[in-house]
Amino acid sequence: MNTLAIDVGGSKFSIAVFEGETMVIRESRSTDREGGRQWMLVQIAQIVRAWAAERRLERCAIGFGGPVDFPSQRVALSTHVGGWQEFDFSGWIRDAFHLPAVMDNDANVGALGEACYGAGQGFDPLFYMTLSTGIGGGIVQQGRLWRGADSYAGEIGHLTIRPDGPECLCGARGCFERMCCGLWLERDHGRTAKELFRNPPFVERYVKDLALGLKACIMLLNPARIVIGGGIAKAGDALFHPLRLELRRQITAWSRARIDVVPALLGDDSVLYGALALANERSIE
Ligand SMILES: [Zn+2]
Repeated sequence: MNTLAIDVGGSKFSIAVFEGETMVIRESRSTDREGGRQWMLVQIAQIVRAWAAERRLERCAIGFGGPVDFPSQRVALSTHVGGWQEFDFSGWIRDAFHLPAVMDNDANVGALGEACYGAGQGFDPLFYMTLSTGIGGGIVQQGRLWRGADSYAGEIGHLTIRPDGPECLCGARGCFERMCCGLWLERDHGRTAKELFRNPPFVERYVKDLALGLKACIMLLNPARIVIGGGIAKAGDALFHPLRLELRRQITAWSRARIDVVPALLGDDSVLYGALALANERSIE
């Protein structure tokens, strides 16, 4: 079975083809925020048409960087790139390339990728957080996503961390995403996360907020492991070591909930592998 996998993120998008479980081709491009949806669909169509000329594609799965209404397969919203609201992305794929398609939020898809092929293998239930342009989360139990009543489970980016903090794009104040995501780190400090993590006093302050958000997940879900993906997780020990110490400080003393927090194993490909896992989970063919 050949699966086309698409990962639409806030700052870049990636496409790959899997033959069975082996990734055989992959391409990644930066997102043109001005160009919005139409620009990206043209790019995706170019790449897929070229690939389809060389190999048979049989199905498609998409991880989208924003809330997705799973039952209707429509994008609910994209706060980072315009023009996607209510878009039936799976339907567009079906019409354009005659492939059955399925779509979910990228954090859900990344969670499935790490649970099935990455750092979450053997850890059940798993909580996955993407820490990049924005923040999202996904919950996997026994190989399946826990989506909640309205497809909004795991949307931790807008947990309130600092009630009197700065205003978030969602209109609330001091959201987890507002305090910790890459977009706002750059806007607030004028430097990339990578540069900021070379400054230990900054990291000490940053992990306090990061741990506040993760503590809520640990107390609510008691996951066997938390896997963090996205660009910021690439900081490695410079981030994860102080984060674990801070979580131990913050977690309620009587709690025996484990504190097992690790970076994603699949790096930039958690969502692409997750798309493969989503196609398998939904048995689309
Ligand atoms: Zn918010």
